[in-house]
Amino acid sequence: MDNNQSYLLNLHKQTDENIETLRTFAEENSVPIVDRLTLEMIKQVIRLHKPINILEIGTAIGYSAMQFASISKEIHVTTIERDEEMINKAKENIDLYAFNKQVKLVEGNALEQFDNVNDRTFDMIFIDAAKAQSKKFFELYTPILKDGGVVITDNVLYHGFVSDISVVRTRNVRQMVKKVIEYNEWLINHEGYTTNFLNIDDGLAISIKGES
Ligand code: SAM
Repeated sequence: MDNNQSYLLNLHKQTDENIETLRTFAEENSVPIVDRLTLEMIKQVIRLHKPINILEIGTAIGYSAMQFASISKEIHVTTIERDEEMINKAKENIDLYAFNKQVKLVEGNALEQFDNVNDRTFDMIFIDAAKAQSKKFFELYTPILKDGGVVITDNVLYHGFVSDISVVRTRNVRQMVKKVIEYNEWLINHEGYTTNFLNIDDGLAISIKGES
């Protein structure tokens, strides 16, 4: 972590103490959740863009879904998770922090859940699941993103490997990093979207539908 990053982390007060305790749980149990400055950035996008319906791909323990929902009672988050252990933990947390009305958990592989979430259109989609599959998630779900809607993709710099794949030693990780590189290039050249890549934490892409 560089000095600027630790300075900004100290500067940002942790706002919602209840949900924030889940970060400690995530760290202790090696559950990957959105990094703090990335979360602050996404929450700021939500305050600016004012989405009502958010689709999240990759719930884990429900942390980011509840963080997004905590911004306004108007916000509804549909979030998809396939791992049973995570599903159980997310359900427990959504109950515990009383977000049942605002957060709907859809169980199963996100590549197979389109029919269970297309009861509405979305103002924002957060892609935060299997990193090699971001393009598939994008292609499957953006047809139900409104014009002017926002797609946010996390981990687009993946541990610094995206900018320097030569340091990757294992074949599996190399394959995955190649997919992330392909996705980033595809995304920046996508004619239907304007994308901005941010060098924050593990890398964040913010894409706006229909902007040129
Ligand atoms: N968004 C969460 C947060 O910040 O609190 C963290 C999500 S975590 C990085 C990624 C999650 O996506 C994992 O829990 C994993 O089980 C789930 N996942 C990966 N591929 C998936 C898929 N194809 N369908 C549904 N969930 C998936």
